[in-house]
Amino acid sequence: MKELFRRAPKAFTPGEQTPDQQTPDNMWVKCPSCGELTYVKQLRDNLKVCRCGNHMRLSAVEWTGLFDSDTFVEHDGNITPLDPLNFVSPKDNYAQKLRESQHSTGLYDAMIGGEASLMGQPLQVTITEFEFIGGSMGSVFGEKIARAAERAYELRVPLLTINASGGARMHEGVISLMQLPKVNLALARLGSVGMPHIAVMTDPCYGGVLASYASVADIIIAEPGARIGFAGRRVIEQTIRQKLPANFQSAEFLLEHGMIDMIVPRNEMRLTLARLLRLYTTRDTSAAPIAADV
Ligand SMILES: [Zn+2]
Repeated sequence: MKELFRRAPKAFTPGEQTPDQQTPDNMWVKCPSCGELTYVKQLRDNLKVCRCGNHMRLSAVEWTGLFDSDTFVEHDGNITPLDPLNFVSPKDNYAQKLRESQHSTGLYDAMIGGEASLMGQPLQVTITEFEFIGGSMGSVFGEKIARAAERAYELRVPLLTINASGGARMHEGVISLMQLPKVNLALARLGSVGMPHIAVMTDPCYGGVLASYASVADIIIAEPGARIGFAGRRVIEQTIRQKLPANFQSAEFLLEHGMIDMIVPRNEMRLTLARLLRLYTTRDTSAAPIAADV
């Protein structure tokens, strides 16, 4: 799993590397869950999972290390979001926010999409970048998933989406909301040829992403402790005027209530995905089982 943290290919860097990736190995970071200080190198070696089990967020580029070394090839990397509504509010200027996010993350939008191989099995992938305006789903985001699903359909390979999002991108108004049915139609077409969409929900997964493609995946996997829901806890509590359970909207709560299929710790994700993919992609029942990570 060491390649999970290889550095970003240069193709992803119209701006600079994320500050997180620039953090030297010899620094210490404080876990927001348990408060313990951990050496950055040790944290990276442990796939950014604290000793307490807290799964800290990975960048989209870091997630590309999940795949077989050097197999991830980005597609549609040059699509750039516009500001169709000239959205400006007293607190918010979308065009400026886009520029700042592009500079800080090194990405053109809150998602990278492409093809990769996982333990020798080809697939199409999309990965969200939460640091880019909260991983929000706008026109470019939706277009990239739809195109990935269409490529998966043409090639007859599975689609894997790795998600962390606050929801639809309100700065694009109805154009953002239009992405929800568009993506789901592309996924339905993929399903019609028996190819799966596997969704991995990482912390957090909210709003339009959950309300469209992520929750209709053939297999829904969550990381431990991930917060998953439509509206946030405070909004719901204020609306229904009731206190919600402490573990409400956690991956564990959702598993218990049948909303997701499994919770997979990060260090088991690669092997678990490989085994699931094998179920869909091989018709040869005598094929050797995937027994160990490589
Ligand atoms: Zn911790």
